[in-house]
Amino acid sequence: MAGSGKFFVGGNWKCNGTKDSITKLVSDLNSAKLESDVDVVVSPPFVYLDMVSSSLTDRIKVSAQNSWIGKGGAFTGEISVEQLKDIGCKWVIHGHSERRHIIGEDDQFIGKKAAYALNEGLGVIACIGELLEEREAGKTFDVCFRQLKAFADVVPSWDNVVIAYEPVWAIGTGKVATPQQAQEVHVAVRIWLKKNVSEEVASKTRIIYGGSVNGSNCGELAKQEDIDGFLVGGASLKGPEFATIVNSVT
Ligand code: PGA
Repeated sequence: MAGSGKFFVGGNWKCNGTKDSITKLVSDLNSAKLESDVDVVVSPPFVYLDMVSSSLTDRIKVSAQNSWIGKGGAFTGEISVEQLKDIGCKWVIHGHSERRHIIGEDDQFIGKKAAYALNEGLGVIACIGELLEEREAGKTFDVCFRQLKAFADVVPSWDNVVIAYEPVWAIGTGKVATPQQAQEVHVAVRIWLKKNVSEEVASKTRIIYGGSVNGSNCGELAKQEDIDGFLVGGASLKGPEFATIVNSVT
């Protein structure tokens, strides 16, 4: 843990779940024993956000998986930051690789959405990460820094930003980055922040890792100096395993 503040663990439920399975997951989370010194956030699909926000213990905050670029209005299919705040949502994920590479969002669009959410008082989980071919071509740092710069160019303040390094080849594949691979990028991100933003932001901002984190590999990853938490996909759909990951804080 290098970023100041608490270890941060987010559960990204993606487009998974039904009323029944989510009710069970919320009940498991409400009864889980979670280390007190960890910020815990879960990110349900939009249609269940209100239900989760009103039935989940206050101990766990709720995040959206996306938000619109500006005020609501005639934007079919979009959800505004104001609506998210209205139902008690505190965070939003932007720059997730599935939105970059499947939906086709680019750095600038992602940056604008993040900036608007931050300006309106939501926290942002800002995701960056390289594709396998980019890693193999030795471009990991170039890609991560380019994505980071698009956030840095527009964010009004870093106080409510958590950076999630999620190598795309590790997401949903069961192929987790080694603790050394993750640490190498996290420390590089911190140095980039120091050079390009400020020493204070570099030392304070939490940099979390995502990509096939589970109850078995979280312990070794959490020991790395610059890993300040996790963004968890698949394993966050199982309450007890998610609790294990939250409690891996060292
Ligand atoms: P995963 O997903 O844990 O299922 O690999 C992580 C993420 O996409 O945030």
